[in-house]
Amino acid sequence: MDIDVTCPMCNLLPETSLHLFVDCTFAQDCWRKTFGAGYASVEGTFACWFDKAVNNGQSDNKEDVVMLC
Ligand SMILES: [Zn+2]
Repeated sequence: MDIDVTCPMCNLLPETSLHLFVDCTFAQDCWRKTFGAGYASVEGTFACWFDKAVNNGQSDNKEDVVMLC
């Protein structure tokens, strides 16, 4: 049984957790509407991005990033 793993929001790339929460144009629109700016992606996994966003991000956004994810 084949399962379509293409992101249903953009229909462009595989729906990985990093794509869903960071890379997708829909996700970037959500970040911009929430914080006024998008978040840059990282090499690796969503866990790598989350760690960087929480531990190296602006202190004002830490709780919001945790809450939104
Ligand atoms: Zn997408």
